[in-house]
Amino acid sequence: MLYLIGTPIGNLGDISPRATEMLAAADIIACEDTRRTGLLLQQLGIEGKLFSYHEHNKVAKGRVLIEKMKEGATVALVSDAGMPSINDPGEDLVKLCIENNIDISVVPGPVAAITALVMSGLDTTRFHYEGFLPSEQSERRKRLEELKRIPETIIIYEAPHRLNKLVAELAENGFADCRAAFCRELTKKYEQVVRMTVGEAVDYYKENPPKGEFVICLEALPSVSDVQEYSDSDVDALILKLAADGKTTKEIASELASVTGRRKKEIYEHALNMLK
Ligand code: SAM
Repeated sequence: MLYLIGTPIGNLGDISPRATEMLAAADIIACEDTRRTGLLLQQLGIEGKLFSYHEHNKVAKGRVLIEKMKEGATVALVSDAGMPSINDPGEDLVKLCIENNIDISVVPGPVAAITALVMSGLDTTRFHYEGFLPSEQSERRKRLEELKRIPETIIIYEAPHRLNKLVAELAENGFADCRAAFCRELTKKYEQVVRMTVGEAVDYYKENPPKGEFVICLEALPSVSDVQEYSDSDVDALILKLAADGKTTKEIASELASVTGRRKKEIYEHALNMLK
């Protein structure tokens, strides 16, 4: 049998009594980093048989774990933090267990995405979990384009040394005026949630270099469902109207990027040409 066990995302107090009990009872504890999970077990005062299972050995080690479970072993799967399978290994082992008719159960624990969402102050009715954006540039651009069409709160994971890049890309892709919550070091001593627009965050994080672990909750683009409905001539008409209202080219670009989902830079250059 396989147990997927949630572990804390920072605060040891968040381990549940049932998680501790299951970890103590398991024949094998499969984990990403045996040192890290070893420390957790030590803090919980339990001993366990650790087995390395991570992104780079999951194919071979997955087979071994399946054989052990077929022989009757109880395997507990944990990740370095939070829930296994959520941006961490787990999904493949679950699929293998299903294929091999091995029972699966879960001991739920904290997830950074949900912890951030409930603190964000943004719409929680519906949300889109994005996790990390791809690092490869063309895939990343494609994903950023796709995010514009998502009509619900978007949850993104990011490493601190890449946060400034991400914020700049979101601003360039029409999200500059969208509200966001930058949730840092959740459940830890230096927990902090900064709520501001993406445009404001560009300057904020230049002045306050990001440190620690981050989840970004991002408001969907307004009228995202209407994004496809703005033709080139609609955009031209809106540029002329906003210019007649006395808006600067920069203000026009920012406003229309939010409304149409088009790139701010593209609208800015087009408006400059139209209005000269
Ligand atoms: N399995 C985990 C979960 O259930 O949330 C996610 C693991 S993923 C490899 C690691 C990322 O989760 C970090 O880069 C960060 O974006 C986010 N994260 C994990 N712990 C966090 C915390 N305490 N505060 C903020 N973000 C956190």
